[in-house]
Amino acid sequence: MTPGDLTRYDPDRDTLASLLDGEPAYRIGQLWDGLYRQGRPLEDVTGLPGALRERLAADLPTALTATAEQRTDDGATTKWLWRLHDGAAVETVLMHYPDRTTVCVSTQAGCAMACGFCATGQAGFERHLTVGEIVEQVVRAQWAAGDRRVSNVVFMGMGEPLANFEATWGALQRLHGDIGIGARHLTVSTVGLVPGIRRLADADLPVGLAVSLHAADDALRDELVPINRRYPLAELVEACDEYRRRTRRRLSIEWALIDGVNDRYEDADRLARIARGLAAHVNLIPLNPTPGYPVVGSSRNRVHAFRDRLAAAGVAVTIRDTRGRDIDAACGQLRAGHAVTVAGPVRNAPRTGARTGDADVPVGPDP
Ligand code: SAH
Repeated sequence: MTPGDLTRYDPDRDTLASLLDGEPAYRIGQLWDGLYRQGRPLEDVTGLPGALRERLAADLPTALTATAEQRTDDGATTKWLWRLHDGAAVETVLMHYPDRTTVCVSTQAGCAMACGFCATGQAGFERHLTVGEIVEQVVRAQWAAGDRRVSNVVFMGMGEPLANFEATWGALQRLHGDIGIGARHLTVSTVGLVPGIRRLADADLPVGLAVSLHAADDALRDELVPINRRYPLAELVEACDEYRRRTRRRLSIEWALIDGVNDRYEDADRLARIARGLAAHVNLIPLNPTPGYPVVGSSRNRVHAFRDRLAAAGVAVTIRDTRGRDIDAACGQLRAGHAVTVAGPVRNAPRTGARTGDADVPVGPDP
């Protein structure tokens, strides 16, 4: 990347310092502290001479232009659609909870992992994001959050973070070291890229790891999460175990419950064996509707029965509070305005055939 392509949050501290040539040495401290620790827009980093701010604003443009902003959940959830300098588009979601404020960031425009039930996967891969494009999503969400400090960042937006390892790692370091978000409050979600999990285990920042499992036998996982053909379950579980031992962080397993596909008791029992072996926490996500996947989420009863079956087997399990469904901001619904072939929801499941159940009722958080 040439300096001319750098956006405001791309340069590391040394690179930014080199762009301040001719200025007193303390300027970089003021600038860095203002942009990151205080999380202010450049224009509001007072203390810097106006001419310098103007020059920096011209040399280092922001990366994200908001093309849509939608709010739901009584204002507690906001989704942005951003356009990048080359026309690529990504989305970011800000979620306020009573005890925390979480930003869900994208790491790629599109995604190459091709999970059929995920809207991002349905749209295909466009390109990797840079460190600055990832970090700016958090910064911009912080501007919108005002007095409510962003406390948590989850790498669960568009894209596969570990397929864009360098930028993901650079962003994690910036969020941790410069913005000041603790490693415990940073979570990377992966479809199961084993080499990336091992690299992350080697790194010296014990961030949370969430693994999008969705199936606990290779035949079904090959179908739902195609990368499983390259990194089958046994290898994935081993890498997760290594991650857990090296970082001492608890793993979470994500499981989107799909009607008639992965919501049977035998699925729960297989999952329980894996989760217990890894001492992992299981997050159940009733499948959110996406345009390109003609199967619906498990019924509320089924979700609860699945949860109870896991709990009875000694697994720590919660049903994820689904945020932003009505604005397509929920898990698996981010697709940045791409047109996707629409297939109407039917109750036929690809593998096991239709099963009748009650209506597709959104399931709230556990009491
Ligand atoms: N590529 C990474 C990061 C994306 S996280 C990963 O897969 O983990 C997005 C989460 O939403 C993943 O757990 C994904 O499996 C899940 N998901 C995808 N489509 C979904 C859908 N339609 N309903 C519910 N969850 C979905």
